[in-house]
Amino acid sequence: MDHPENSKEYLGLQVNQGVAQPSIINPYLKRSRFQRRELSVAEMVEGIVKGDVTVLSQAVTLVESVNPDHQQKAQEVIDKCLPYSGKSIRIGISGVPGAGKSTSIDEFGVHVLDRTGGKLAVLAIDPSSERSKGSILGDKTRMEKLSVRKESFIRPSPTAGSLGGVARKTRESIILCEAAGYDKIFVETVGVGQSETACHSMVDFFLLIQLAGTGDELQGIKRGIMEISDGIVINKCDGSNVDKCHIAATNFRNALHFFPPSDSGWVPKVLCYSGFYGTGVKEVWDMIYEYFDFVKGNGYFDYRRNEQNKYWMYETINEQLRNSFYNNSDIQQKLQAYENSVLLGQKTSFAAARDLLDIYFKKL
Ligand code: GDP
Repeated sequence: MDHPENSKEYLGLQVNQGVAQPSIINPYLKRSRFQRRELSVAEMVEGIVKGDVTVLSQAVTLVESVNPDHQQKAQEVIDKCLPYSGKSIRIGISGVPGAGKSTSIDEFGVHVLDRTGGKLAVLAIDPSSERSKGSILGDKTRMEKLSVRKESFIRPSPTAGSLGGVARKTRESIILCEAAGYDKIFVETVGVGQSETACHSMVDFFLLIQLAGTGDELQGIKRGIMEISDGIVINKCDGSNVDKCHIAATNFRNALHFFPPSDSGWVPKVLCYSGFYGTGVKEVWDMIYEYFDFVKGNGYFDYRRNEQNKYWMYETINEQLRNSFYNNSDIQQKLQAYENSVLLGQKTSFAAARDLLDIYFKKL
């Protein structure tokens, strides 16, 4: 049919017939040849246990997925990997942005691989990464020396979800990495907010990287972080910064005296080093290995892992209950109204919570 704008009243304007456009999909593309076949649970487990990095990466992606089918499959893979896991040392590395975490992990990683052989996985917990749409932690490009070592596996933080969710995924990835033969696991996290507590709940040794500041650095860091640290290391102890670092170390040592003794019986140490120049790195790792000898000797190593398993059982229950509650359609419909009535003073918080829970448990 001719275009209506070609009628007489639009004289001078000629609208031509359109030309059919080709499909945006290339009809000659042979899909099946290059498409990766989805592995079964058994194939995945087999690949992981053999140490196949591609399969391990796929499994970690599955763990991180929010798709319920993927999660279901991930759980089966994790269950089957569990008997192969646990034989590693897990080290949490925390520090504020700019403290030198990636520089240090790069240096530490190469040091431990050269010192003891084996394989190293670097994982991360970065709850802020959802907002920044891309993880700042566990970034391979910032670990140049380590990322080219074939014995290393570096994975940025899972991005989706609450801190609890992100942390659980990291913990599950630890199991997969261990099953794949990684006998050293680093978990990097930012030393702000709650993420270091989550990190502490899945590692054997928690290392806090600090910087020497203006002398009042102790006020800046939260008591809680120092309490959970098994070692505090002052980075950037190089050039004109050396004296300041030693003063900072003395301040930290003095401050540690005021904390109650730790359950492990280990007295946290404070050391200076330079991640950039690699000086003092050996001493940091002497300390970490000394710690492992100590806690394996007195039984605390196993005790802490058991406590962590217990903690994660309850964490998982809490998380699933919370999700089930907030995803319930009755609750979703009524939540806002109840919130408003609390804000208007028509209901107390407790009554509103009780009513909502009654709705959830079908008692109302
Ligand atoms: P992150 O944010 O904690 O991962 O910190 P980075 O590893 O990215 O380091 C932040 C900055 O500090 C970078 O510019 C590094 O080059 C620098 N840096 C890291 N370690 C050292 C060190 O030991 N000495 C000096 N002078 N600079 C360092």
